[in-house]
Amino acid sequence: MKEKVMLTGVRPSGNLTLGNYLGAIKNFVDRQETHKSYIFIADLHAITSPKDPQKLKEAVYNCVAMYLACGIDPSKTIVFRQSDVLEHGTLGFIMTFQTKMGELNRMTQFKYKSQAQSKDGVDTGLFVYPTLMVADILLYNTSIVPVGRDQQQHVELTRDLAERFNKRYGETFFMPDVYIAPVGNKILNLQNPLEKMNKSDNGDNKGTIFLMDDIEVAKKKIMSAKTDSLGKVHFDEENQPGISNLMSILSKITNEDFESIEKRFEGRGYGEFKREVAEVVAKLLTEIQANFNKYNNKNLLDEILANGAKKAQPTARDTLKRATKALGLN
Ligand code: ATP
Ligand code: MG
Repeated sequence: MKEKVMLTGVRPSGNLTLGNYLGAIKNFVDRQETHKSYIFIADLHAITSPKDPQKLKEAVYNCVAMYLACGIDPSKTIVFRQSDVLEHGTLGFIMTFQTKMGELNRMTQFKYKSQAQSKDGVDTGLFVYPTLMVADILLYNTSIVPVGRDQQQHVELTRDLAERFNKRYGETFFMPDVYIAPVGNKILNLQNPLEKMNKSDNGDNKGTIFLMDDIEVAKKKIMSAKTDSLGKVHFDEENQPGISNLMSILSKITNEDFESIEKRFEGRGYGEFKREVAEVVAKLLTEIQANFNKYNNKNLLDEILANGAKKAQPTARDTLKRATKALGLN
């Protein structure tokens, strides 16, 4: 029997990247057999900064089709759109009021993303979205949240706020754990391996592999990834971040450990190593893209989302009810 609840989400803020797949989606797919699983398209999170409404709608469909293409099976996992379950917004609002401004101020994602906005003023959405994420997680009595390293702090905030709420108002929320996979939890930008690969980065995208990239383009991105002059395929994130990043990508896709990769490439150049990484990524993308075309059908996706919302709603409603009752609201 599936008892433990697993949940994760992705913002429909651009095309999904290899980082999203390796850092979050793959870990989820590997566990959907053994957990009661929820995955959602975080469209409320996408409007933390203004978005073109038509493009946002399209991005939601694109995201669901990508989930399915990556191996999420709607007969095993509840796949839904966040805005279809209104409880997310209400509990998010409530959880914002349990939070100190200082707690949100020290979120590294906020610090990083607000820098880019500081000229015209920083969107409040960027500041408070972690408390919406708190609600996303708590609504489903989640026990495990597979995310990339960049989101770890937000899951920790969820634990802090759940504990605070439970202490103030009585046992209401279930305590979730974060799951950060040991390999591939922070895929780096191929051109700037000091920064995370982001789907919503502007620029020329040379450092980001999108799952829908043309296969030859993706291979070229790997072949021109920034490395170093040490000439040794060795895992050392500090001194060889570019090579270590490519090793993480290879290892996460093929399950080969770092030691074995290092041994195989001893005395061989970076060119050969990159070619192998490029081939492995190309194979993965080819499979995902073939699947995507099968699932990219609005009627099918609408049906999956409607079904998912119907299945997600009762639990969300129960949890919100518990919370409002505890607060003395109704
Ligand atoms: P955005 O720029 O819109 O924030 P993003 O690529 O960071 O895009 P999110 O929707 O914020 O994507 O995150 C979705 C999931 O993917 C999260 O679990 C996040 O931790 C994970 N993730 C995102 N980027 C990476 C990465 N480079 N390496 C590993 N995991 C990642
Ligand atoms: Mg992000």
